[in-house]
Amino acid sequence: ILNDLIRAEKLSVVSHLAASISHEVRNPLTVSRGFIQMALQDDTHNEKQRYYLDTALKEIDHATDIINDYLTFAKPATEQHTLINIKEEINHSIKVIQPLANMNNVSIIINENLPENAMLRAEQKQFQQGLINIFKNGIEAMPEGGILKVYAAQQIDGYAIRVTDQGVGMTAEEMNRLGEPYFSTKEKGTGLGLMVSYSIIRAIGGTIKVSSAKNQGTSFDISLPVYEVKK
Ligand code: ADP
Ligand code: MG
Repeated sequence: ILNDLIRAEKLSVVSHLAASISHEVRNPLTVSRGFIQMALQDDTHNEKQRYYLDTALKEIDHATDIINDYLTFAKPATEQHTLINIKEEINHSIKVIQPLANMNNVSIIINENLPENAMLRAEQKQFQQGLINIFKNGIEAMPEGGILKVYAAQQIDGYAIRVTDQGVGMTAEEMNRLGEPYFSTKEKGTGLGLMVSYSIIRAIGGTIKVSSAKNQGTSFDISLPVYEVKK
C-alpha cells in the first residue's frame, strides 16, 4: 500500500509538472510568434529569409498545437473529479471550438432536447478536452465547410453523444490506427488529439465507437456512465 501511495504521489507530481511546463512554454511561443510576424511584415527580406521566417512560424504553430491537444490531459486527474452537468460541458466545449468552425465554414448544430440534468463524475477540464479534440477533428475533416452535428441523448444505461461530420472519412486501415499516439494523416497534425480523448473517456468509464466512410463522413459515438440524474 505504501508503495502504491508513493507511486501515486510521484505520478501526480509528474502530471502537475507537465501541466505547468505546458503553460510556461505557451507564453514564449506566443511572444516568438508575434516577433516573427512583425519581421514578416517588413518587405526588405529576400526570398530565402522569408522562407526561414515562414518555416519558423510553422514550427512554432506545431508546438502550440501539441500543447493545445495535450494541455488539459496533463493536469492531475483523480483528485479533482466532481459531478458535472453533461449538457453544460457540451455547450461550453462547442463555444470553445466555435471560432475554428467559423474559420472553416462549418456550422455546428446540436439537438434541442438535450437532457438537462444528467450528471457525470469527471474532471471538468479533461472532459471538455476530450470532447474538443473530437469536435476539432470533425471540423478539420471538412476543409470545404459543412455541418458538424452533435447529438446527445439520455439512454437507459447511460448517456450517449454522437458527433457526426460530412468530411473526408477514413479507410478501415486508418480507423484501426485511431488513438495510436502520433498517428496523423494531416500535414500539420500532432496525432495526439484522439489518444487524449480516448484516455479521458475510458478513464471515466465511457466508451467510444467510430464509424466512417471514405469521402462521406465520420461518426464518433461516445457513451458515458451517468452517475446521477438530478430531479
Ligand atoms: P491530428 O488531428 O493531429 O491528426 P488526432 O489524434 O486528433 O491527430 O487524429 C488522428 C487521425 O485520425 C487524423 O490525422 C485523421 O487521419 C483521423 N481522424 C480523426 N478524426 C477524424 C474525422 N472526424 N474524420 C476523418 N479522419 C479523422
Ligand atoms: Mg486532432
